[in-house]
Amino acid sequence: MASAREIQVYGPSIGTGELDNLRQCFAENALIHGRFVTQFEREVADFVGHRHGVGTNSGTAALHMALRIAGIKRDEEVLLTTLTFIAPANAITYVGAHPVFIDVEPETWQMDVALIERFIDERCRWTGQHLINRKTSRPVTGIVVVHFLGMAANIDAIMTIAQRYDLVLIEDAAQALGTQIGDRRVGGIAPIGCFSFYGNKLITAGGGGMIVTSDKAMADKARYLVNQAKDDPIETLHNEIGYNYRMTNLHGAIGSAQFARIDQHIAAKRAIARRYAEGLAEVPGIEMVAEPSEHFYTFWLSSVIVDEARFGMSARDLLARLGEKGIQSIPLYQPLHLSKAHAGAQHIDGAEAESLARRVLSLPSSVGLSEPDQGRVIDAIRSAATAA
Ligand SMILES: *Cc1c(COP(=O)(O)O)cnc(C)c1O
Repeated sequence: MASAREIQVYGPSIGTGELDNLRQCFAENALIHGRFVTQFEREVADFVGHRHGVGTNSGTAALHMALRIAGIKRDEEVLLTTLTFIAPANAITYVGAHPVFIDVEPETWQMDVALIERFIDERCRWTGQHLINRKTSRPVTGIVVVHFLGMAANIDAIMTIAQRYDLVLIEDAAQALGTQIGDRRVGGIAPIGCFSFYGNKLITAGGGGMIVTSDKAMADKARYLVNQAKDDPIETLHNEIGYNYRMTNLHGAIGSAQFARIDQHIAAKRAIARRYAEGLAEVPGIEMVAEPSEHFYTFWLSSVIVDEARFGMSARDLLARLGEKGIQSIPLYQPLHLSKAHAGAQHIDGAEAESLARRVLSLPSSVGLSEPDQGRVIDAIRSAATAA
């Protein structure tokens, strides 16, 4: 457990508007259903350029519902990067489908498009209507594209593949709200996008998520399903099995107050990434991912590759060294093809993800990180380099 004095990797930044909105929920006696959810849905959907937003009680629930409304079914297969938080993989299993884990590009850390193509060409057959995985005989029906760590996946190339083989495409932009490819915001590019408002994300709702889409039928279906598939405004009738996955008005109230400061949050994250890039530029064996000129990254987490031979110690040793100085840092996620939770899932390579998982450390990146505190982090890394 982090102590109060520890410099944390990604704590929330909470203003006064959150409490003001919550007071209004209480004054209006509107804790569960209410106008703040609708307002927050409108704000996020408009921000990313989709017509509809449907709030949920978590990003994981948003992904589950996105797969449902997109029509992903039992015994189908969905392609997913192996290097991500586990939520999208779990959501795929919630609908009875199976993830196929794809390795990442070493330069971008995102799902490797060439590997998707190789998987389709070498391991699948196309019937003219369906893509069938030769090994499992199951249809491959979708791709979940995660925009990893506040950077952007190569969504355009993946969208072309999805169109060619009639695959459902869902963006998991939980880590990348605000990230842009040209003037398009991620999460608003594919037909369906998902966000999370967990406490460590760019903005938080004190937990929550959202599905965004411009397809009214899909948005209506999602709204219906997250409200227990209630079929009548008066009678309690249900024609199918739904879920209690709705976002509450209390969470919408917090989320909407946070959204009012989203530009400041993005600017803070980008300034943090820039200061690390400058402060660590001269340190041998420490590297960051560059931002391509046509992209605009929110840098949800500022992460560095630690080259043990050149830096003088491994990423895990640096983590321990920073920890001794009251500085939290975290490794990447265990690649999902190695996770016991998804043992037996097919994976296409994975060596690059494993290598990154050994070498990458995410540094303190909270919106509220002060410049002096960030200076302490940079100094600690520099002195670790000289000490080694
Ligand atoms: C945070 C996150 C989610 C959703 O998480 P919840 O805690 O359920 O809101 C989904 N995908 C990714 C990549 C995430 O980082």
